Amino acid sequence: MKVKMILPALTEARSPFWRPIKYSLFPPLGLATLAGYLDGSDQVVIEDEHVEALDLADEPDLVAIQVYITSAYRAYQIADHYRRKGAHVCLGGIHVTSLPSEALRHADTIFLGPGEDTWPAFLREFRAGRPGKVYQSRVRTLIGQPQVRRDLIKRHLYLVPNSVVVSRGCPHSCDFCYKSSFFRGGQSFYTQGVDQALAEIGSLPGRHLYFLDDHLFGNPAFAAELFEGMRGMGRLWQAGGTVKSILAPGLMEKAAEAGLRSLFIGFETLNEENLREHHKYHNLHRDYHEAILHLRDLGVMVNASFVFGMDGDDETVFDRTVEWAIEQGVETATFHILTPYPGTTLHKRLVAQGRIASTNWDLYDTRHAVFRPARTSANTLEKGYWRSYREFYRWSSILSAAWAKQLWSQRLRHIAYAGGWKKCEALWNLFIRARQVGIMAPLLETILAGFGKRQAKTELGPVQTSIRTTAPACSGEGALPADPVASLRTITSEQLLRRG
Ligand code: SF4
Repeated sequence: MKVKMILPALTEARSPFWRPIKYSLFPPLGLATLAGYLDGSDQVVIEDEHVEALDLADEPDLVAIQVYITSAYRAYQIADHYRRKGAHVCLGGIHVTSLPSEALRHADTIFLGPGEDTWPAFLREFRAGRPGKVYQSRVRTLIGQPQVRRDLIKRHLYLVPNSVVVSRGCPHSCDFCYKSSFFRGGQSFYTQGVDQALAEIGSLPGRHLYFLDDHLFGNPAFAAELFEGMRGMGRLWQAGGTVKSILAPGLMEKAAEAGLRSLFIGFETLNEENLREHHKYHNLHRDYHEAILHLRDLGVMVNASFVFGMDGDDETVFDRTVEWAIEQGVETATFHILTPYPGTTLHKRLVAQGRIASTNWDLYDTRHAVFRPARTSANTLEKGYWRSYREFYRWSSILSAAWAKQLWSQRLRHIAYAGGWKKCEALWNLFIRARQVGIMAPLLETILAGFGKRQAKTELGPVQTSIRTTAPACSGEGALPADPVASLRTITSEQLLRRG
């Protein structure tokens, strides 16, 4: 059987504001995971439209397309094309789960929720000549999952080919997050066995890894055992976590000893009322400043995620947030405009309030205001979003944030990491055009490794712990959100997040 698996390009990836490097980070791990369930005799290819042109002239028997909200229109176009050619077309992913009736108009079969149970069930029925129309995930486990088909990934096209996922979902329920709708009808957080996870990690070449789990630390016992198993492997890795997990006694120490060097953190807002309103209860009453200092002491860099447009946000939120992040010495930041994805609790609330302004899915990219904000205009929200990026990544801001640190080694790493990511666009584009972005991986490893050791506090004298802040963390005067797209990171995602 000839099988074609496709990750269509997100609409924003084709825009003139596109930073190509942001879409050349992670390979389509979700599709490679599903490919593991195919027979050895099947001929399978994976094509990722972010890094290569699709071959639409082929004649596969079965086509599987992963659909995100901003790739939905493109995905439907590709699906219609292959259906006209007689292929059996499957659509799955977060957007399909949110809006199954829309997806069904373009598919022979759709998948709702994660695919560990439904995809193999479909394959059995398809081979028997009686495929179903809709498969709803119910039984969820990663135990015994076949090996991810990493041999199908074109590693040289990605800066981070070693992306890994050892869990699914998240134990929390932020109202803007896809997690609740995607995992509806079954377990919403589960992990691999530790031995299974360690075996996969051990099989990956090179040193650098990126865990794309929604919440790697969601089960502290699992995470601690995993990190103990990784100690001594010589890995350097990045991941996402919560403020709560950073402040959990001993967990980050184990992670840092196992090679953690940078962490994506959903601060989301500096405003406690915003946190409550959006059910981000695990951030309430947490000291963001303490969390950042703790990571710094362990040699772990911070990628801070913030969301603008919550009901407590007025036009001052942008400058206050950026100023706070710079003063805290945050290395990289991602900003998002609050986006009411269909299927989320937030979406239901805004629909009930008559505040949804657009249902053009191409605009649901966290860069556009697709709803009517409570305390500012949509125009102000979008302008503030772009200004935040400009201000945070000015050289003067990068240097100020670097100088919030006490040690020269920390300052230099900050400048190399933030500057390398945001100020070397021509270089990134050169390697992408040459289809050799993977060549930059050793440089990334050098920055992570060379500066990432636990810092001696005596290099410049005692570490100052009283960095001035304009708004005390979670003071109610303006704090930050976790990424609304965070749940996209599980089996079906990878590409969207963590791009500053
Ligand atoms: S936003 Fe982050 S913490 Fe909240 S439910 Fe989603 S993945 Fe979990």
